[in-house]
Amino acid sequence: MTRILPGQTIGIIGGGQLGQMLTFAAKQAGFKVVILDPTPACPAAQAADEQIVAPYDDRDAIERLATQADVLTYEFENVDLAALEAVSDRVSIPQGTELLWITKDRIREKTFLRDSGLRTAAFAPVNSADELRQAVATIGLPAILKTCEGGYDGKGQVTLRTVADLDLPVVREILATGQCILEQMVAFTCECSVMVGRSVSGEVTVFPVSENIHRNHILHESIVPARISPELRDEATQVAQKIAAKLNLCGILGVEMFMGKDGHVYVNELAPRPHNSGHYSIEACDFSQFAVHNRAICDWPMPEVHLLHPVVMVNVLGQHVEGVRRLIATKPQWHFHDYGKAEVRRDRKMGHVTVLTDDVAATLAEIDATGVWQEEQ
Ligand code: AMP
Repeated sequence: MTRILPGQTIGIIGGGQLGQMLTFAAKQAGFKVVILDPTPACPAAQAADEQIVAPYDDRDAIERLATQADVLTYEFENVDLAALEAVSDRVSIPQGTELLWITKDRIREKTFLRDSGLRTAAFAPVNSADELRQAVATIGLPAILKTCEGGYDGKGQVTLRTVADLDLPVVREILATGQCILEQMVAFTCECSVMVGRSVSGEVTVFPVSENIHRNHILHESIVPARISPELRDEATQVAQKIAAKLNLCGILGVEMFMGKDGHVYVNELAPRPHNSGHYSIEACDFSQFAVHNRAICDWPMPEVHLLHPVVMVNVLGQHVEGVRRLIATKPQWHFHDYGKAEVRRDRKMGHVTVLTDDVAATLAEIDATGVWQEEQ
């Protein structure tokens, strides 16, 4: 592949906040950016040179994007693989399609991880109420039933604690959507993630481990450095490096993990793109996850990434955004990223706040004390 240089064009499928922050980083480095997204003036389009307004799977639109761009990337995993393959002779798609194929489906993803010698929750494919009973008999309870494709932020999943839960209407609903997976519930002390980047040429760079606090299955806060032992931190870093190598990764990948109560690292999920838990890197690292992604797909050398300052990131959802917009004038140390989404909805990611801090506990308390994030506790 020939190296992509400033002045050339990056095409991004998807124009949400991840696409927007990729665009900011790309513009800073002198690239042109074209976004494909059905929503006019979507967050990324507000920063990009041009937007093609069309559905993500519109073949003609992807053709147009491929014609305009020198390199093609995406901000979410549910990309139309066949459409990408159809234009792969015309435009560089350094990330390929295999990683997307693996991460689109939870069974393929967990099978890949297990075959790579990594720990995951015990799991079983489930297609019917009968298979669910059999899987529960093998895996035990508590367990989590999840749809294999398309679920995010806790959508399409239910926790089963007792045998009676197998008869819940939501279980029937989830089973009716198609292929499902039953996962053993991992007992963990905390959830962490690691962003890892790898260039076309195979250079790897790993970001510091982030500790992630979820509320209602949605990321609420990330804390870096994660408050875990050096041994777990090293294991989490090595796990991310191993996955990047096994996948022949190109670009940035988020590895979500559980720090098991048994002292082991369990891999939960892979995100083949920038990830919400890596947003802290914009202010707290010398290279952001977005800059690293762009460098990787353009075949630039991978920088070594350093954490410049401990940091707390807190997500701003639809129900928080008014409060944060009012509050921000009173918080000189807070970096507020407002994604510029026209429609405010409950639980919709509208922005995030990053706080560089020498006292994580005090900053977490300060965030709580604002009352903005209180209603969900
Ligand atoms: P996921 O959609 O797989 O990222 O799951 C969303 C959240 O549900 C995770 O961040 C965990 O808090 C929880 N969760 C999912 N799977 C498991 C599991 N096997 N064991 C324990 N907690 C889980």
